[in-house]
Amino acid sequence: MEELQTAEIQTVKQTYAQDWPAYNEAQTMEKTCKHCGSANLTKRGHRRNRAGKVQLFACKHCGRRFVLNEDGFQKMRHKPELVTLTLDLFFKGLSLRKIADHLTQFYQLKIHHTTVLRWIQKYVQVMKVYVDELKPQVSERWHADEMMINVDGAYRWLWNLMDAKTRFLLATQLTEQRETEDAMRLFAGAKQKAGKRPEVIVTDGLQAYRAAYMKEFWTLKKPRTEYIRLARFEEKVNQNLIERFNGTTRERNKVMRGLDTDESAETFVDGFRIYYNFIRPHMGLDNKTPAEAAGINLELNGGNRWLELIRKSTNHNNNNNQDSNGRSR
Ligand SMILES: [Zn+2]
Repeated sequence: MEELQTAEIQTVKQTYAQDWPAYNEAQTMEKTCKHCGSANLTKRGHRRNRAGKVQLFACKHCGRRFVLNEDGFQKMRHKPELVTLTLDLFFKGLSLRKIADHLTQFYQLKIHHTTVLRWIQKYVQVMKVYVDELKPQVSERWHADEMMINVDGAYRWLWNLMDAKTRFLLATQLTEQRETEDAMRLFAGAKQKAGKRPEVIVTDGLQAYRAAYMKEFWTLKKPRTEYIRLARFEEKVNQNLIERFNGTTRERNKVMRGLDTDESAETFVDGFRIYYNFIRPHMGLDNKTPAEAAGINLELNGGNRWLELIRKSTNHNNNNNQDSNGRSR
């Protein structure tokens, strides 16, 4: 029996390239009691949070129950470095199929592109739960726009609402229509995220923004948010900002082409917002990320920012006392 297990492990090891050995749970988790240090633990029950199910452990020595310090990769067969590599390639514009081919060519790994998509979906959700709670300090001038994208042959609208000074994306969404309610949801989301109304909101010529402005930003009392509607967005707005907008848009479009369902498109929209705000340093911001420019410093400086953000998110999600419906317990 033991020989068989060893043989199985050998086979598994040979399946992976030497650079990426099978990921070992023991390497990432210290299985000792948080309170008394005892290694005599047993699994007992689960806790749910918005990112999923978390294993609870009970200490046989002191009797307390707790969550182990996980790094978010404890159930993965592949190393965190490999998994985060796929996230980075994806949000830099490689399609899922190209990523799978890259893994075959350079690491002799046969990983199906749908597996890569599952990884991305899983970790975007983990990071989203965490970063959505963080509050950026943004400026008084916000810009909104929307563009048409193609998801598996169907047209969808991708909306952005960005702070002009920090470039922080306050709200993004994917919709089928461009109705007033869609514009309202965008404004409401940004307002909630920033915890305030801006002094100025600039939009393109879309009619739906007018009603959304009246609903979400207009007030009887002054100071009132000023509304600037540009017939042609490109004409009047600060040129740097527009160049960056377009650059972002091109990158985004490139990635979107690899998406074949609304579900993967939603993941992409959330994931790109995380990539854009927290991962990618910005030349126009002295190589800071928009999050850093907006006063959120997560100290992702050790090299692999995806990995550090996922670890931080997992730790946060596992230890906060909210269930999957957001209720406190
Ligand atoms: Zn204990």
